[in-house]
Amino acid sequence: MIIENNKSLIRFNSFGFDVSAEHYTAVENIADLHDAICWTLEHKKPCLILGGGSNIVFTRNVEGLVIHMALKGVDITEQGKTATVRVAAGENWHKLVEKTLSRGLFGLENLALIPGQAGAAPIQNIGAYGIEVCQRLSSVEVYDTQDRCERTLPAAECDFAYRHSLFKTPAGRRYIVTAINLILSTVDAPDVTYRALIDNLAKKNIVTPSARQVFDTVCDIRTQKLPDPAVIGNAGSFFKNPVIKRQLFDTLKTNYPDLPGFPEDTGRIKVPAAWLIDRAGWKGQRSDRVGVHRAQALVLVNHGGGNGQQIAMLADKIQQDILQRYGVHLEREPMLY
Ligand SMILES: Cc1cc2nc3c(=O)[nH]c(=O)nc-3n(C[C@H](O)[C@H](O)[C@H](O)COP(=O)(O)OP(=O)(O)OC[C@H]3O[C@@H](n4cnc5c(N)ncnc54)[C@H](O)[C@@H]3O)c2cc1C
Repeated sequence: MIIENNKSLIRFNSFGFDVSAEHYTAVENIADLHDAICWTLEHKKPCLILGGGSNIVFTRNVEGLVIHMALKGVDITEQGKTATVRVAAGENWHKLVEKTLSRGLFGLENLALIPGQAGAAPIQNIGAYGIEVCQRLSSVEVYDTQDRCERTLPAAECDFAYRHSLFKTPAGRRYIVTAINLILSTVDAPDVTYRALIDNLAKKNIVTPSARQVFDTVCDIRTQKLPDPAVIGNAGSFFKNPVIKRQLFDTLKTNYPDLPGFPEDTGRIKVPAAWLIDRAGWKGQRSDRVGVHRAQALVLVNHGGGNGQQIAMLADKIQQDILQRYGVHLEREPMLY
C-alpha cells in the first residue's frame, strides 16, 4: 500500500475543485483495502472512500485518508437467457455498459453515460430513463469496516429506493462496496417506458428499438442535454425530484396549472425539481464563480475557479427559495464533504 501526502484531488472530482487529501491511497485489491482501513485505525484518522468523484462536492481539504477504489475486473457467466456479471468496484460504469452491450448482454442500456464507477452505482441506486440499477443487481459485495471482513449482501437487503440505499444510512456506512453482481439478459428487449426516450426514438422513426438503439439514443439525449464535466465542472443533477403530498400538489396546480406531476404507488406525487427551479428563475443565474447551468436548471456548475463553499451557498439559497415559493423541500443529491 502506497500512501501519498497532500495529494491534490482536482482531477478526482467532476466539479474540478482544487482541494487536497491529507493522505491518499489507491487500492487495487481487498488486501490493500484491509491495510488501508487498519492504517486509519492505527493512526486514528478518518477515511473517505472515493470513486470517480462525480457525486461529491468538496467544500474543504479532506482530513485523514482518501481511499480511491481501483479494484478491476469483469467476470461474465452466461446461463441460457441470463448472464451473471461480477464487476469490481473500480470499473468505469459507462465502459461496463458498452462492454456488456457489445457482448450481447442487455439491461444496462438506459444507464449509459452516467459518470463514475461501478462500486458507487448502488450507493445512490443510480437511475436514468426509466431504469434503476437495483433492478439489475442480485447482490453487492462489501468490505465490512467494523468486523474487518468481506460480506455479500443480497440486493433485497440493501434498502434500495429512488436515489437511496442502505449505504447512505448510518447503519450502512460501515460497508465499502468492493464489487457488484448484476443479472443481465441475453434477450434484446429493452425497457422503453420513459417519455423522453420514447419521443426521441420516435423522432428517429424507431418503433421497436433494439438495446443498441436505446443506448445510442440515451447517449444522444445526454450529450445534448447535460454539460460535460470535462468542459464545465458539475455533478449532474444537484437535487432529487421531490415527492410531495397529493394535497400540496393540488394546491400548487391551481397556481401553476402546467406543473408536471407523476403519481407514485404511495399516493404521493413526484414533481420535477428542474421545473420548480426553472420557474423560480434560477436557470443561468451566477453567484461568484459558480452558477446554475444556462440550459439545465437542475445542474449547478463551476464556471472556473469556483469552490465547494460557493456551490453549497448557492444550493442553500435555491433550497430556501423553493421552500418559500412552493412549500417544497429540495433534497441535495451529491454528498457534501
Ligand atoms: C454529468 C453527470 C451526470 C450524471 N447523471 C446521473 C444520472 O443520470 N443518474 C444518477 O443516478 N446519477 C447521475 N450522476 C451522479 C453520479 O454519476 C453517480 O452518482 C455515480 O454513481 C457516482 O459515481 P462515482 O464513482 O463518481 O462516486 P463518487 O462521487 O466518488 O462517490 C459518491 C459517494 O459514494 C461513496 N462511494 C463511492 N464509491 C464507493 C464504494 N465503492 N463503496 C462505498 N462508498 C462509495 C463516496 O464516499 C461518496 O459518498 C451524474 C453525474 C454527472 C457529473
